[in-house]
Amino acid sequence: MTDPDVLIAGETLIDLFPTTPGPLADAETFERRAGGAPANLAVAMTRLGTAPYLWTRLGADPFGEHLADVLETQGVPDRFVEVDADRKTAHTLVGDDPAADQSFVFYKEATATMAMEPGTVPDETLANLEWVHFGGVMLCEAPVRTAMLDLAERAQAQDCTVSFDPNTREDLWPDPADLEPTMRRALELADVVKTDREDLSILLETIDQDIASVAEELLASGPHTVFLTRGADGTYGMATADAPWGPAETDQPTFDVDAVDTTGAGDAFTAGTITALLAGRSLPDAVTFGNAVGALATTETGAMEPLPDREAVERLIAAQ
Ligand code: ADP
Repeated sequence: MTDPDVLIAGETLIDLFPTTPGPLADAETFERRAGGAPANLAVAMTRLGTAPYLWTRLGADPFGEHLADVLETQGVPDRFVEVDADRKTAHTLVGDDPAADQSFVFYKEATATMAMEPGTVPDETLANLEWVHFGGVMLCEAPVRTAMLDLAERAQAQDCTVSFDPNTREDLWPDPADLEPTMRRALELADVVKTDREDLSILLETIDQDIASVAEELLASGPHTVFLTRGADGTYGMATADAPWGPAETDQPTFDVDAVDTTGAGDAFTAGTITALLAGRSLPDAVTFGNAVGALATTETGAMEPLPDREAVERLIAAQ
């Protein structure tokens, strides 16, 4: 197998879903699933036939062992899958009641993922990569925040394409005042941003305007390419003349599928667009491909189980 061209950085964790509907406080039994947006993205790219490195940090505990097993079974290269002998693996409770005070609870304190350290991925590795992706969840506090920004800075210096998914979860930030300057720095470092309207609402002045204005404001903050996903309504993409794939604007509906669970659809979309852009496809074609991967990811429960291979994606595109 050839060395990967892509590195994804960030959390791999256990999502615990209640097996019965209702408030989390009343849930008696939970189902365990591997998760974390960066891990989902790495698995989605692997399924599409282009396995990336995943830089992540697991605890030396049963959850960590399980996640290492899942990543190995899925075929994700383990060179940057660290195991922290002194820490436990992060986990989350994922409720299905958005009206509840807490429908998402992140147990991150003193976990392995929060101890990711700057400099772990050497410059020599970055020099051989084409693309580096990081997410916003691990920007919530140092030292992992420093580790992510350091990676993005060094990847930029090595001329990698840097992509970023803010995935803003304000309640994870111990000091909410850090959020805006940190997100602004991340946008400066990113070439490609995948987000949605709500995700960056605290940063954007155009949030109530049309989608092209939101995209233009984002493009003025650093990246040359933005993707704004809209669930079942598809994706808007815009790139400036600085983008290697050239300036473009595209607004595409997604594919008509029987959606049962949208967990991880955004990560699947990102996997599809990165894969297509690296293969030299145009921005509109990459959005079509990303939409197809995202749509197929909704057709079964779970973030990883329904992820399609390349043939399934091409079949869906050809059928439409
Ligand atoms: P996120 O998971 O980041 O919130 P979205 O829900 O916007 O992301 O979904 C990402 C992409 O996945 C969408 O742009 C679309 O292509 C696809 N998708 C999401 N939900 C559906 C759906 N119900 N039917 C078809 N495609 C979907």
